Amino acid sequence: MSVKNLLTALLILFSVSVFGQENKLWNSITGSAFLNNRSYAVLEKICDEAGGRLLGSPQNEKAMGILKEELSKIGCETKYEKFKVPGWVRGEDEIKIISPTPRKLQTVALGYVNSTPEFTAKLIYAGYGFDGDYSGINASGKIVLVSQGTPPGKEPLLRYEAIDIAASHGAEAILFINDNPGTLTLAGTGNFTGNPAKIPAYSLTFEEGKWLVRLLERNIPVEIEMTTRSYCKEVETSNTVVSFKGKVKSKIVIGAHFDSWDVGQGGVDNGVGSAILFDVARLLKTYSPDNYYSIDLVWFNGEELGLWGSKRYTEMHKQDSIIAMINMDMTGSPTGFNAMGFNEFIPFFKDLVHKLNGFNLTSGVVSSPGTNSDHMWFMFEGIPTFELQARLDESMYKYYHERGDTFDKVNKKYLSEAAAVVTITVEELANNKELKFARKNEHEMVELFKHYGLDKRLKRQHEWIYKEE
Ligand SMILES: [Zn+2]
Repeated sequence: MSVKNLLTALLILFSVSVFGQENKLWNSITGSAFLNNRSYAVLEKICDEAGGRLLGSPQNEKAMGILKEELSKIGCETKYEKFKVPGWVRGEDEIKIISPTPRKLQTVALGYVNSTPEFTAKLIYAGYGFDGDYSGINASGKIVLVSQGTPPGKEPLLRYEAIDIAASHGAEAILFINDNPGTLTLAGTGNFTGNPAKIPAYSLTFEEGKWLVRLLERNIPVEIEMTTRSYCKEVETSNTVVSFKGKVKSKIVIGAHFDSWDVGQGGVDNGVGSAILFDVARLLKTYSPDNYYSIDLVWFNGEELGLWGSKRYTEMHKQDSIIAMINMDMTGSPTGFNAMGFNEFIPFFKDLVHKLNGFNLTSGVVSSPGTNSDHMWFMFEGIPTFELQARLDESMYKYYHERGDTFDKVNKKYLSEAAAVVTITVEELANNKELKFARKNEHEMVELFKHYGLDKRLKRQHEWIYKEE
């Protein structure tokens, strides 16, 4: 054997052994993710025995207890990190048509709508609820009906913007017509600040909304009686944290929001993310508990009302060296990775896609950050944040923030697939000493948000934290 051949043989032997070792661990993780899936049963328990997990509600507390108990069964000790935030309680709100024909409307109050004594008022229609839509109509003392969706040539208003505009025109309340048919009422927050909404605001079904618009267009007066019993109050809650100590204190955070809207069971939003994180905990505990970097798994509380859990977590851990964050919100069957504008990590993820060729990661690696989920507060710190690209079934999207977001929509196979891919990703990141986990500075983050056109939305939501415009 020539020296050249010998070197080649050694190289092959070396790479086979490295690849073989890696494969063995990945095989174990992937095999166990599918064959020993625990997350599906845990999520069923949470959904069916506790119910929808509105921030600060008894159901949310009960669900946290179930999660803690189940984590302890797999040998994971949990830590509750308590915090106080503006909370909200849904009461027995009643909205009735008095004339032309009596009927109780199917509605849901938006978060941070505050209780108001019963009153009766006339209904008026104000298009999409833009300021200009009020010209020529007198909204003072009335209940305003507005359409949701995208008006021609314009970006849709955020609901809190439409609430403020209606209030500025003297309206007593506002009703949003859902733009999806099927007697769906889209739950959601009334604002991102936690302040009581200026006037009661409700989401209405497409069908009842269209009916009311037809009556008004035919100049038939509509009178409504409204009683709002929902109310704002401060609540104390916690994020649930499971930590894996590494050789160094610098840590990677894997997060999923644990709370949900109360109208359904939060099976998909975000039962699936919370459940995948459970199996990630189990797989790390079993196959990769000791890594170079430390790992925090965090079930954030209060995302739906205003990203409270991740906001408080980043405040409470300001001094920690957090080097990366992976967020899972409504995560389904993995199709690839999203580098979220931290493009220096694209080669790492491309390599991972290549090595995980048994999974159907057909969308590869993209870099496309969004705003409204828990990764946002980490991005504000300049911390590299990532997401899986993933596919959900149509029924899983359809009942977003609806009564129909229940456990039956959850696909067990997707949980296993995502748990395997995320655990392998975390294990690879947590032992990679070559990658430079550098935070971006303020100016770089301003540039990043602007590059992806997210600055406008953040400013509209009053969440633009930067001095630089
Ligand atoms: Zn969500």
